[in-house]
Amino acid sequence: MNDPRNSGPQNNPNNQNNPNNPRRPQRSPVFLIVLLCLLALFLIQGLPALFSQDGPDTITYSEFLQKLDAGELEKVYFGATGILITAKGQEDPEVPSLVTGYVGDDGLVERIEGAGVKLEGEIPQQMSTFLEILLTVVLPLLLMVVFFIFISRSMSKRMGSGGGGFMSFGKNGGKIYAETETGKTFADVAGQDEAKDSLREIVDFLNRPQKYTDIGAKLPKGALLVGPPGTGKTLLARAVAGEAKVPFFSLSGSAFVEMFVGMGASRVRDLFKQAEQRAPCIVFIDEIDAVGKSRETAHSLGGNDEREQTLNQLLGEMDGFDPSKGVVILAATNRPDVLDKALLRPGRFDRRIPVERPDLAGRLAVLQVHAKDVRMSGSVDLSAIAKATPGAVGADLANIINESALCAVRAGRRAVEQADLQEALETTLAGQEKKGKLLSAREKKIVAYHETGHALVATCLPDAEKVHKVTIVPRTKGSLGYTMHVPDEEKSLATKGEALAEITSLLAGRSAEELVFDVQTTGASNDIERATQMARAMVTQYGMSDAFDMVQLESLQNPYLGGMPLRNHSETTAARVDEEVGRIIRSCHKQATEILTLHRAGLDAIAAVLIERESLDTETFHRLFQTHVGEEKQITDAPGETAAE
Ligand code: ADP
Ligand code: MG
Ligand code: ZN
Repeated sequence: MNDPRNSGPQNNPNNQNNPNNPRRPQRSPVFLIVLLCLLALFLIQGLPALFSQDGPDTITYSEFLQKLDAGELEKVYFGATGILITAKGQEDPEVPSLVTGYVGDDGLVERIEGAGVKLEGEIPQQMSTFLEILLTVVLPLLLMVVFFIFISRSMSKRMGSGGGGFMSFGKNGGKIYAETETGKTFADVAGQDEAKDSLREIVDFLNRPQKYTDIGAKLPKGALLVGPPGTGKTLLARAVAGEAKVPFFSLSGSAFVEMFVGMGASRVRDLFKQAEQRAPCIVFIDEIDAVGKSRETAHSLGGNDEREQTLNQLLGEMDGFDPSKGVVILAATNRPDVLDKALLRPGRFDRRIPVERPDLAGRLAVLQVHAKDVRMSGSVDLSAIAKATPGAVGADLANIINESALCAVRAGRRAVEQADLQEALETTLAGQEKKGKLLSAREKKIVAYHETGHALVATCLPDAEKVHKVTIVPRTKGSLGYTMHVPDEEKSLATKGEALAEITSLLAGRSAEELVFDVQTTGASNDIERATQMARAMVTQYGMSDAFDMVQLESLQNPYLGGMPLRNHSETTAARVDEEVGRIIRSCHKQATEILTLHRAGLDAIAAVLIERESLDTETFHRLFQTHVGEEKQITDAPGETAAE
């Protein structure tokens, strides 16, 4: 690193805190220790004198011995604060006039007796002198040492590392850490099978890069793990490194930007340089949103030059990187929506790996993984805990297991009982349900009917798209990739029947809520938005309404330039368009309700299974559909014949 930036004056404050700097850190603690010891000694020695101004005069020990040998003393008393001395011929013979401290002097008693001086009080043990030294010198020293170990520990923790076997890298602040062996494997990550499948390819690539380069296949340079906090993104990244048995370089996005101005960009450079030397390896950037926040939105706060520089450096490094070298960059975020678009372009973090909240089976698996480390009584039923925690993430569940163990210890038990788990569940998840993180039983039921409504109606309509997966586990916004609201050109041609079928199945979620619970929830807002957009596009762009026939009412601007569709019509026409859109929506809504009313028994049956399992894959759903709705009951006539006449 011969970059002038690194030797510039702005880096000096950093060097002072640099734990790798051999000179600095040793000097200041020792200096401090000595200072503190001196202070302690002074206080202990000087205090008695300070508080006894009217009392005896303090003399030194040698003065005392002098007076003793000279026969000037009458009486010596070994007291708690020191040796109290009564001199011969002093004014008040009852009150000692002099005092001196103890010194561990072996022959003192003989010497006093030999001088014919009276001796009173407890003869001080050698011990107490020893103790005094211990208290005044050794103890503060020990305390200081403990204190410094503690400080440096917590600092290295803040630098983003956990277990053992670290090498610190980077001349600038030593902020980059590489673990030679993370010790984690995919077995430590419960559930998350889809994420693991996507990551397995990366592991394979790191293990046998030859296989890929031979054929000319290029792996994505970076993969972005997206999901709510605590779902195991960091854990997964470490598991990838562990599975591939490669070093794991990690740095959190906030560490790039924090503290020292002008350091972020050089830290990125440093990180990549080190990584290249140790390839194959994994570079993991946690909380990448801290650096990768969209430059547009960031400017509303006056912008952040440092962050932007760092981001540019990161982008530059990623571009100039040869992926065949075997460095794979992983990043994690729970805010994919705020990321700078530049980060998501091809050749950067173009692969997204959703890490979702676990469903019932996933939660049970997480509980089991963590329960392995804790002694559980045989009667414990983890599935009951999994059932009671819809919406909880892996970290919550790990926490429940740990809390239950603490609970058991508090109760003096030798193994965790169900009651401990129950108590841990209540304490750790208290308040989360209110904050909307967890679904209440009623919410869960409503969501289940809503989702079943979509799936059932879509399956009843031959024109609608096939149902993939039905789930009531809350999903992260943006984790499913970009949601295309207006159907784009890339999508294969859609017929009018298909468009109507899609609108009908979009509206079926709300229809189910109304039919079963007679409620309307906010959960349908996205459905409504998409259905309305689709209906409007049918009228204004696709010429699919009888009212307007094939008149183009709106032209789509280049979507890459953003902006609203251009209107090609008058205000009166606009009112008629709205009317037409409303008619399509109403008609589809009605049809959805009709289908659901007809198959109410099937709706109830499938929703019940969904509540139980929380997610149904394609096969399970279609099997349930066959049994409870049946093929013969399918509505075969195309929907919406009434919609747009
Ligand atoms: P994130 O990075 O997504 O916020 P972490 O990976 O830091 O979440 O997870 C925090 C902790 O929660 C982990 O160390 C682990 O103990 C636990 N955890 C989270 N998800 C899982 C999982 N799928 N399997 C096992 N443990 C998990
Ligand atoms: Mg994390
Ligand atoms: Zn919906």
